[in-house]
Amino acid sequence: MHKDTLTELSASLGARRISARELAEYYLERIERFDPALNAFVTVTPEQALKEADAADRRIADGTATPLTGIPLAHKDIFCTAGIKTSCSSRMLDNFISPYDATVVARLKDAGAVLLGKTNMDEFAMGSSNETSYYGPVRNPWDHERVPGGSSGGSAAAVTASLCSAATGTDTGGSIRQPAALTGLTGIKPTYGRVSRYGMIAFASSLDQAGTLTRSAADAALLLQVMAGFDANDSTSLPDPVPNYPDELQTPWEKLRIGVPENFFDDGLDADNAAAVRASLEVFEKLGATIKNVRLDHIHLSVPAYYVVAPAEASSNLSRYDGVRYGYRAEGSDDLLELYMRSRGEGFGAEVKRRILTGTYVLSTGYYDAYYLQAQKVRQLIAEDFARAFTEVDLLAGPTTPTPAFPIGQKVGDPIQMYLNDIYTIGANLAGLPAMSVPCGFVDGLPVGLQLIGPHLAESRLLKAAHYFQLETDWHRRLPAAYA
Ligand code: GLN
Repeated sequence: MHKDTLTELSASLGARRISARELAEYYLERIERFDPALNAFVTVTPEQALKEADAADRRIADGTATPLTGIPLAHKDIFCTAGIKTSCSSRMLDNFISPYDATVVARLKDAGAVLLGKTNMDEFAMGSSNETSYYGPVRNPWDHERVPGGSSGGSAAAVTASLCSAATGTDTGGSIRQPAALTGLTGIKPTYGRVSRYGMIAFASSLDQAGTLTRSAADAALLLQVMAGFDANDSTSLPDPVPNYPDELQTPWEKLRIGVPENFFDDGLDADNAAAVRASLEVFEKLGATIKNVRLDHIHLSVPAYYVVAPAEASSNLSRYDGVRYGYRAEGSDDLLELYMRSRGEGFGAEVKRRILTGTYVLSTGYYDAYYLQAQKVRQLIAEDFARAFTEVDLLAGPTTPTPAFPIGQKVGDPIQMYLNDIYTIGANLAGLPAMSVPCGFVDGLPVGLQLIGPHLAESRLLKAAHYFQLETDWHRRLPAAYA
């Protein structure tokens, strides 16, 4: 059962081969058995899950079910869930229970999905390895000594180890695609504004976007169908109608022109990882795609630009955590300033403080022009490079990460090394483009990902390319031996 994709489970539920309750009990039992070693979950919600599963079974019986009714899911602990702790894996929010559901949570609930719990993540989604969590690192199911990628590492580990059928994630600079690549999953970050950010705790608001971690592109299409679409509660939500993603997958293959950004294949890219990506381009050629080299002239500036813009926005967004209104409050302060300083000093971890300091610095008088404004100009140049490339090609393809999963602890002491993991993913966020990671091979027994990037609102094209690739390959069907 746990080897099935969401699409397959949905068919089994629809045909009454299994009930939603049986499915929920099965996955809850796996969480109990395997999660202590993985640390993928911050909160597990068995009672609520079983209640939702019973409601799903009633819907299936009375004919009002959707394809997601009864599907066991987990949400990254950045999405607000009414009545269930939403911590963002920070001490600051360790006691926070949201009074409302994020739009993503509400829409999936309405569709009848069953919530099993909330997943571990880098604190406030700041990280590439899931090592900045207040609750400790998440372990990669392929090798427990290695990171699962971040910041949606708990969601990635949970799906990889089949502790749930699929999970939500968020991607500000690669946090869905990178963990997907390092755990052998399919991850999609939609176009900026395609999925509502309402109730998704803000990190860098002009970059944050919600998406999914699943076993297959077909699974992602089913989830995105429900998650995407205009939301009046998010002022950056796109009004464009949502295509029928699952139906679009079934349409005949059109001959795609795929661009390969040659500057992605630089010295920093592991040679075997590069070979796996090149081999997957041959699969697309066999499908009838034409492959063409393209250049993204400013992409090498994406990491420095991002690490100015994202901390700047984070420093502003995180100013709301003051120890007064909600969240962590330090005991025994004599005055208000001390309360602020001690609550923030004790409530935030080291990486979050580093971002707040950097962000405050680059926004300060005298430095604003030199850093923040300059980074915004570079961001514009990067977006223009992508726009130019998309006048010649339909999709871009390249690596998701420079290397397979690295050992826990290897990069924590060196923030620059950690930031460089995002080198291939950040560009799509800076330009607001939809992008995916699809499993494309193994290096020393560890999965690696192929990244596909599309023009704005080309989610259907991305999902379809990934789906056709998955009809030709079986990388996405492999499971780590301990969880198979
Ligand atoms: N690794 C990047 C960062 O730490 C991206 C994180 C994300 O996408 N949330 O900022």
